[in-house]
Amino acid sequence: MSRVFIVRASMVAILCLSSFAVMSAQLPEPDGGTIERGTSPAHWLSQGSKCMEIPEWQVHEYNPNFFILRQSPCTDYEKPFVFLFFGKDKALLADTGSRNGNIVPAIQVTVKNWLARNGRTSIPLLVVHTHEHRDHVWGDKALQAMNDAAIPVTLLPAEVEATKKFYGIEHWPTDIGHVDLGGRVIDVIPIPGHSAASVAFYDRNTAILLSSDSLYPGRLYVQDFAAFQASTERLIAFTKDKPVAHVLGNHIEETSTPFLDYPVGTMYQRQEHELALSRGSLLELEDALLSLHGVPQRLALRDFSVWPSGPKFTRPGDRERFQQHEKEEMERMWDHTAQPGVH
Ligand SMILES: [Zn+2]
Ligand SMILES: [Zn+2]
Repeated sequence: MSRVFIVRASMVAILCLSSFAVMSAQLPEPDGGTIERGTSPAHWLSQGSKCMEIPEWQVHEYNPNFFILRQSPCTDYEKPFVFLFFGKDKALLADTGSRNGNIVPAIQVTVKNWLARNGRTSIPLLVVHTHEHRDHVWGDKALQAMNDAAIPVTLLPAEVEATKKFYGIEHWPTDIGHVDLGGRVIDVIPIPGHSAASVAFYDRNTAILLSSDSLYPGRLYVQDFAAFQASTERLIAFTKDKPVAHVLGNHIEETSTPFLDYPVGTMYQRQEHELALSRGSLLELEDALLSLHGVPQRLALRDFSVWPSGPKFTRPGDRERFQQHEKEEMERMWDHTAQPGVH
């Protein structure tokens, strides 16, 4: 075999391998593959103001080893989501909720039910964060003080240096970190832009991407546009050769009507958008950012909007829109309670 032929043959092999890498985001058959599947709820208990009927945290079992919890709208209008993964050796909780979110009892019940179901008496809990904003770290202190022998807690503060060290990220934000829960590896992708310490999590078992406040059906508040755009591009590159079952962010602020959000500060959201987005939304976000040519401005897309943060981007009418919405909700409530027999 000539040297030229060997070189050509190895180039063909490399080309084949690289095209396989690009193709492997798709599965060979529409049979679900080896992805650990699960279901999302038809709707969340966030649609109305029946606060006596809504738990402080609604716990949704996506599958036996992955849970999505949402804070009650009655406790805080942010009503964020937090995520609980179980591996063989450890559990991981991403975020701890917003103000007035009494998260400890919900975590204790969920973890203890999992322990009982799996014939175990304890499991260490890693408490980590998608980012450092107050509506995602409020429960940190309470979880640290939980002092439950069945659930020993290790808390990773939402700071860049601690995050780098813990996940083994040498170069921030371009390297990818990892955490192994035992039979469950979660990749950690730095995505600064919405905030300095934002990260995304990719769970290899369920193929779920947690996109933090950087992509969700609602207002994507952008602090640093250049960093946000670069992070979006890195997330697209990271997921290029991986299946993505769902992209799950931290809030819902969009209605189920295309291009329409709830006013800032809305507590109860009737007919809200579903939580899950797809990798297609990442591509759409990248397109939208490119169309701005580096000039921050608001841009409404079908399922979310790009929203530069800071007072100079507040528009006249934002506050009035919120007040009008609240007035209509109050009137609707009174109408409802005035009708006998309607619940
Ligand atoms: Zn945030
Ligand atoms: Zn948030």
